[in-house]
Amino acid sequence: MADRDGFIWFNGNLVDWRNAKTHVLTHTLHYGMGVFEGVRAYEAQQGTAIFRLQDHTKRLFNSAKITGMNLPFSPEQINQAHIEVVKANKLNSCYFRPMAFYGSNKLGVGPDLNDVQVIVAAWPWGAYLGEEGMQRGIRVQVSSFTRHHPNITMIKAKANGNYMNSIMANTEATRNGYDEAIMLDANGFVAEGSGENIFIVNDGKLYTPALDAALDGITRRTVMAIAADMQLSVTEKRITRDEVYCADEVFFTGTAAEVTPIREVDGRVIGCGARGSLTTEIQQRYFEIVHGKNAKYESWLTYID
Ligand code: PMP
Repeated sequence: MADRDGFIWFNGNLVDWRNAKTHVLTHTLHYGMGVFEGVRAYEAQQGTAIFRLQDHTKRLFNSAKITGMNLPFSPEQINQAHIEVVKANKLNSCYFRPMAFYGSNKLGVGPDLNDVQVIVAAWPWGAYLGEEGMQRGIRVQVSSFTRHHPNITMIKAKANGNYMNSIMANTEATRNGYDEAIMLDANGFVAEGSGENIFIVNDGKLYTPALDAALDGITRRTVMAIAADMQLSVTEKRITRDEVYCADEVFFTGTAAEVTPIREVDGRVIGCGARGSLTTEIQQRYFEIVHGKNAKYESWLTYID
């Protein structure tokens, strides 16, 4: 990733991609305390548009608040940074990675003597779990790793170190030949994927875990709005692993994963073993919204002029 042309917004300046570097004694590299986001821009009706930028930036600032990190930029500056990197890199569609981290002034657990640095990078990125997975559905495995407990790390924070847990789960699942992991919470109930929220469909109704042990996903919120438009009920409730096995349809949601159907869990075929009919319609409506083809949600798009 480091060796490519382009620019990264780094502490207020557009820096040449290859020179956007930090020291090996960077505090966040050692202890994992940082906050980040994943955002996408799509080619929409009137040009390139960033999807739900304000909501992502708000979550970034909330993540910083939760973890006690003081960001040296305003939300408006971070929003503007996204626009600048799209323009500087001449991108039509992209994935963004805003991230705030502690610098290399001082090691030791306490971070406060370090300055807080912020980057916003952007690059083209297709379907996170593969184009084929979007059409046919993916195969997932319930992880042997437990998802975070709310008082171990903070689940509402999209914090760098939280992802060690995700990486362990994703690595286990993919090395076992699956596409992704489903993680259970400390009580054994379904929480989320390693980087996605999860929904199940039963008798035309949607169910999703409450946010006790899952990130408050922005795509999850978008899917809830789509479900309301389709007059489908959505219930937040405890979901057990065997409920997932027996569901009519199961799908993941996430900025990177978008709406990804799940066709198999732990070797059990889900529903018809392919992308389910409601998943198909929700996925289609999701893509209409992000591509600016649904006037009702126009305010979620930030066009690059
Ligand atoms: N859960 C986790 C652990 C994630 O990393 C993500 C991706 N940000 C999500 C859920 C989905 O969140 P969003 O829809 O806001 O991308």
